[in-house]
Amino acid sequence: FLPRISAQLWKFSSASGARSLSMRAVLVDKPGPPDESMRLAHDVPVPQAAPGELLIQVAYTGLNRADLLQRMGRYNPPKGASNIMGLEVSGLVKQVGPGNVGMASRFRPGDRVMALLAGGGYADYVNVSAELAIRIPDSMSLRDAGALPEAWLTAYQLLSFVGSIRSGERVLVHAGASGVGTAALQLAKQLFGAVPFATAGSAEKCSLAVRLGAERCFNYREQPDWPAELLSATSSAGVNVLLDCIGAAHLGANARVLATDARWVLYGLMGGADLPPEQASGFLGALLSKRASLIATLLRNRPDEYKARLVSEFAERAMPLFESGRLRPVIDSEFPFAQVAAAHTKMQSNANLGKILLAVNP
Ligand code: NAP
Repeated sequence: FLPRISAQLWKFSSASGARSLSMRAVLVDKPGPPDESMRLAHDVPVPQAAPGELLIQVAYTGLNRADLLQRMGRYNPPKGASNIMGLEVSGLVKQVGPGNVGMASRFRPGDRVMALLAGGGYADYVNVSAELAIRIPDSMSLRDAGALPEAWLTAYQLLSFVGSIRSGERVLVHAGASGVGTAALQLAKQLFGAVPFATAGSAEKCSLAVRLGAERCFNYREQPDWPAELLSATSSAGVNVLLDCIGAAHLGANARVLATDARWVLYGLMGGADLPPEQASGFLGALLSKRASLIATLLRNRPDEYKARLVSEFAERAMPLFESGRLRPVIDSEFPFAQVAAAHTKMQSNANLGKILLAVNP
């Protein structure tokens, strides 16, 4: 009923050329805890699709750790991006930008798409460069597609563009049951032919990581000497690639498990940014003796051209594996749009296995 009304309003507004159409969007009034900081506003102006862009009516938007940081005022959107939270959506193309230029010419109103965003997903509508949109295959639901872009494109970027993973190499994925972790384990094994290992904070999360392809998963809470176990599982060779979203808490352990010529890809700091002195000792020596590279990376503030190359390569190489069932998004739970605070609370308590979705116009 409501989406139909909104479609009618849309027609009326487009016909009259009016720009006054408004939509729902989650706004952050002041940084703080989920219940006190966010508000579902109903009077936010609908964005317009510029040349080369699509306007998408959002069906689902996925939560990401970055949203929690943004809500707390600790992660500002890059210059020029929407200040509304939300880094990924699935939905229907509502409007193709004027002139049908570039990749936008490949889409028509009504097409089912998913898109990687620099912001703006927690809303009824969002505009995005058509180069960052992927057509959703017939076999995939809008719900599954809503869980894909940010976590899977990040995981692909980390393993391939940054980590230069090769078939047969061993990769350690920290937070193996996280949104990014569940994607990285599957991509490592199914697409890149690598041998994945994982860490996670509970037996349930470790069991998921193993189901997704991890050779072994170490519960870092119950197995504090997991580096020794990992070294023993790899005949002392260690891992060639390390996907690290933890930072300080595992610093010394990470240095221990690197193989010679390893690529240590730092993409998050959930375990802290300040180096504990007891772990820093011998750290540079370990890196040097192993000829290891420590590479830090962020996706959100990369230029659109880089993201477009990532989206295009992912669409070509990974999307067919979703269609054949070898890859699958892992969805923990779905919350109605109005319950965004409950969704944030769940992610903040580390309770999710895989992705949390907001159903915006399901
Ligand atoms: P998520 O689904 O919310 O999962 C995060 C998990 O990390 C938690 O459930 C928890 O699992 C673990 N964790 C949290 N705090 C921890 C700590 N102090 N020590 C060890 N483990 C901890 O997360 P996500 O949205 O997939 O994001 C995962 C990471 O990727 C975040 O750090 C995020 O910022 C980063 N990220 C980076 C980029 C980039 O471009 N650089 C892009 C996307 C995401 P356990 O119970 O297993 O500990």
